Amino acid sequence: MLVFTFVSDVPMNSPMRSPRGTSWLCPAEADRSRLLDMERRIKPVRVAAMGILGAALIASGPWVGWWPVVVLLVSLAAFAVVDYRIERAPRPEYRMAAGWALSQLLIAGSIALSGGVQSPALCWLAIPVVTLSSRFSARGVAAGLLLTVGLLLAVTFGLDHEAVMDDPSNLIFALGAIGAVGILTTPLMISDQENRSDARIDALTGLLNRHALELRIPELELQADGSDVTIGVIVADLDHFKAVNDQHGHAGGDDVLRATSARLRTQGRAFELIYRIGGEEFLVLMPGASLQDTIERAETLRGAVSGEAVAGVAVTISCGVSVSRPGSFDFQQVFGRADAALYEAKQGGRDQVRVRSLDDGATELAKLSA
Ligand code: GH3
Ligand code: MG
Ligand code: MG
Repeated sequence: MLVFTFVSDVPMNSPMRSPRGTSWLCPAEADRSRLLDMERRIKPVRVAAMGILGAALIASGPWVGWWPVVVLLVSLAAFAVVDYRIERAPRPEYRMAAGWALSQLLIAGSIALSGGVQSPALCWLAIPVVTLSSRFSARGVAAGLLLTVGLLLAVTFGLDHEAVMDDPSNLIFALGAIGAVGILTTPLMISDQENRSDARIDALTGLLNRHALELRIPELELQADGSDVTIGVIVADLDHFKAVNDQHGHAGGDDVLRATSARLRTQGRAFELIYRIGGEEFLVLMPGASLQDTIERAETLRGAVSGEAVAGVAVTISCGVSVSRPGSFDFQQVFGRADAALYEAKQGGRDQVRVRSLDDGATELAKLSA
């Protein structure tokens, strides 16, 4: 499968690049998007899950004491801190991992406070393990499992090894639960990843996704070879979208993304292909279009977004435009030029279309609108 190596042609400070880099917990930007997506989905359910655990703790309070309830509340507060603007964190995976480890520490604390190896909360250490594989790389999952087992041993053996030797069955059951949960969730995660990477339609906007683009590029490169056809490329990015999320919440931001996509699609001509290639970044492929056609189309798209509020929010869009030489379509090069033009549009004040037309090192910039 073609990998998106084309970004290597793009200037380091281009808006298309991920400024965040990757990490051992999230080896690719896609892993990070998945982590943030999971976090959005888990957030509302976590409160309900903690409510259930809280009810169990309160009902058992007369026998195990009330400290575990306090620990649970601290854990809830810790996750609120972790979640605060996590989308904007440079490395959200580290913050998430810290929150996850803290929740395990707090559960271990509850176990220590409610009887060590005799604690009925022993198996609760398996609950956060459910979320491990949906968030982190295989190494992250292994590290999480190691931490969990280490904590389990610390609050059982570490606290009272004689009690463990007298009756190790609780510890053995807890180890079994942790191992089983770790193993069962892994194929679920792999299935989820494979299904996502097979999909060609972006679930949020209904536009074609990056995977669809990866499949289309070699076809176009082959078709263009030796013909006199040129192919136009527009790269578009919503301006100041972080501020839209800040003001209207993530769900409001999603509404804007959906409505923007619908507007781009209705403005498009037949056979033009519109892709969502990033959070709020779009790419239009225009087989057969000249540079002038592509510029006009970009201008139409920009005007369609900027001209009227989208989902009730006034937003603008910046576009970078380029076109292939007749007879050869090197997507990597054309995309690199269009993305560099987008960067110029951002630098030039946004809500505008910029063009890079030549691929011999010379640059032609046309500021068409401002
Ligand atoms: P610029 O004008 O320079 O492009 O500024 P910007 O604020 O738009 O900056 P950038 O393009 O880097 O930020 C994109 C933001 O889009 C960051 C991220 O939180 C948000 N985002 C990415 N994907 C989604 C999504 O699926 N839904 C929502 N609501 N927000 C998203
Ligand atoms: Mg943007
Ligand atoms: Mg962007």
